[in-house]
Amino acid sequence: MSDFEGQVALVTGGSRGIGRAICLELAARGALVAVNYNRSATAAEDLVGEIIAAGGAAEAIQADVGSAEQVGALFKSLLGNHARIDILVNNAGITEDNVIMRLKPKDFDDVISTNLRSAWLCCREAARSMMRKRSGTIINITSVVGIAGNAGQSNYAASKAGLVGMTKSLAKELAGRGIRVNAVAPGFVETDMTAELSGELRERAIEAIPLGRMGNPQDIAKTVAFLASADASYITGQTIIVDGGMVM
Ligand code: NAP
Repeated sequence: MSDFEGQVALVTGGSRGIGRAICLELAARGALVAVNYNRSATAAEDLVGEIIAAGGAAEAIQADVGSAEQVGALFKSLLGNHARIDILVNNAGITEDNVIMRLKPKDFDDVISTNLRSAWLCCREAARSMMRKRSGTIINITSVVGIAGNAGQSNYAASKAGLVGMTKSLAKELAGRGIRVNAVAPGFVETDMTAELSGELRERAIEAIPLGRMGNPQDIAKTVAFLASADASYITGQTIIVDGGMVM
């Protein structure tokens, strides 16, 4: 499949987990993929090597997407090299879980900054370029937690619910310029983020999933690729839940 031939994609937090799978999927379908990472330089470089070895095109770009200065530098480098961005996937995310009485204001601010403000900063930079060519697509990775809530994740849920509202607002704002904006809400996906959960919590979570298994990063990557493709050209402002039926 080469439905993204000639297109440039940026995936934030592309070094590991779901972001990594999204980079592989978009590259396999012909996109040149900019793999953004913050700390995992080796993982990002290894992924770029893997994509190139498979005949694709990719490059790694370091930036903490919570920082406006670093996001500015990231886009300066990307647009300086390629003069276009066609697909933006805002995937970078962290958790800092605790019940509200134990959660510190810094834990709230850090999660909002990395999960929500980062996406807004990247959308603003990407939209500037996409508006000029009157085409582009943005996909924000939210979470079922932003829809259903979760005890001990008030900061994370707020950041992810914020992404849903931001997706709809930007979809309305940018539709006239040929830019589609959608979100994907994963359920419980096997990555480093969920690796720390105890066996008992994991078992209980799987019991609550009608399809009877955790998601894998490819489940999310396939949905992202669909939303980025011409097959989804009449879809904007939507949040697609990919959770094995957990929240319905
Ligand atoms: P993960 O395995 O912990 O990977 C997180 C990724 O985000 C890493 O590549 C990390 O890069 C990057 N990142 C973190 N802070 C960053 C920053 N400040 N700037 C740039 N990149 C940063 O997480 P995951 O499970 O793949 O999650 C990916 C996304 O899916 C997140 O938005 C998460 O909230 C969402 N999600 C996950 C699940 C799940 O069950 N796993 C469910 C729903 C939603 P470095 O290592 O280079 O710092």
